[in-house]
Amino acid sequence: MAFDAIVVGIGGMGSAAAWHLARRGRRVLGLERFDIPHAMGSSHGVTRIIRLPYYEDPAYVPLLHRAYALWRELEAAAGERVLITTGSVDAGPEDGAVFQGALESARLHRLEHEVLDAAALGERFPAYRHLPPGTRAIFQPQGGFVLSERAIVAHVHAAQEAGAEIHARERVLHWDARPGGEGVAVTTDKARYEAARLVLTAGAWMADIAPLLGGLAVPERQVLAWLQPRRPDLFAPERFPVFNLELAEGRYYGLPVWEVPGFKFGRYHHRGETTPADSMRREADAEDERLLRAFAERHFPDGAGPTMALRACMFTNTPDEHFILDRHPDHPQVVLASPCSGHGYKFCSVVGEVLADLACGDGATRHDIGFLRLARFRGPDAA
Ligand SMILES: Cc1cc2nc3c(=O)[nH]c(=O)nc-3n(C[C@H](O)[C@H](O)[C@H](O)COP(=O)(O)OP(=O)(O)OC[C@H]3O[C@@H](n4cnc5c(N)ncnc54)[C@H](O)[C@@H]3O)c2cc1C
Repeated sequence: MAFDAIVVGIGGMGSAAAWHLARRGRRVLGLERFDIPHAMGSSHGVTRIIRLPYYEDPAYVPLLHRAYALWRELEAAAGERVLITTGSVDAGPEDGAVFQGALESARLHRLEHEVLDAAALGERFPAYRHLPPGTRAIFQPQGGFVLSERAIVAHVHAAQEAGAEIHARERVLHWDARPGGEGVAVTTDKARYEAARLVLTAGAWMADIAPLLGGLAVPERQVLAWLQPRRPDLFAPERFPVFNLELAEGRYYGLPVWEVPGFKFGRYHHRGETTPADSMRREADAEDERLLRAFAERHFPDGAGPTMALRACMFTNTPDEHFILDRHPDHPQVVLASPCSGHGYKFCSVVGEVLADLACGDGATRHDIGFLRLARFRGPDAA
């Protein structure tokens, strides 16, 4: 057999999986349909938030601790920084999902944190304005951001150094699993390959390459804005922690100025536009800009100068917005990773390790991923 493992999709998750498999001595082939890196999927736009008091579910926190450690390992391997610490703010109504969830995670996992009211938040970080009365925030000092495209390149370099073969501009058309869990054949637009194991990390294209994820991995158009701050000092990484902010009009996230000369932010589920990945509208329009600018003008007026950039990107949502990390129920030699519903990049480093666990030997992993298994959507009678 030519390869021990083929990884389909060398974006955030796949580049990490390729490294973890290769560093365990596996012969790895990574196949990517676009360039490495590229701006057609879910990982472009320079930066992604990382934060520890996870309001989505405290069960992510142990994975996050490992993700941090592995980002630092990657930095050592690559000789460059990929994770910048700014602290994180998770804010919203006192009884809202963001504040309450972050508080629960922080308490349960004994994370260093401070609780701030709206006035204290504004005093500490003067970029914030007009927060609704009753807003509460968790400040956590280890939050920050990962340089997402740089980290893909760093994972690919590290994988190649460990012996992986990576091909860009080669699209996987289909794969066949041999019966009895023994091996796969993968056909691309250039060649055919055989391997013992297959790891599918195709991002927004997951349901195309793994049809059992139809309806369970649904791409959604998302737009990011970068606006020039009128007071750049307030939006520098040293003074502006990454944030999640729950408001009556939606849930927003944002980051300090980095690389692009603008304060970066977006709205979760932007305009609710689900879309097949290949036909996503890639241009941002006037309505995208209006919607995002209205948020900045109200709550971050010193950050709402001229528009510097607008970029469309894809979330891929599961029905409960949690990840899917599992072996294929019919083909144990095939491992699946969903693109993680708009909050997965920070986990790429640890997801790479989990996928390598699932693809090696009997698929045992020391990570607690029970809540991320595919079975939760398939019911007890599924084959
Ligand atoms: C606007 C936006 C903001 C976000 N903000 C955050 C954040 O702040 N923090 C956070 O943690 N997460 C965030 N996320 C989510 C995070 O970015 C995603 O969870 C993550 O990027 C998904 O990585 P992936 O590897 O699954 O997808 P990708 O990086 O897109 O990789 C999938 C790869 O598979 C390739 N591929 C697909 N089909 C084939 C095929 N047939 N053959 C070969 N290759 C194929 C694609 O070309 C692509 O390169 C955000 C997402 C978006 C869109």
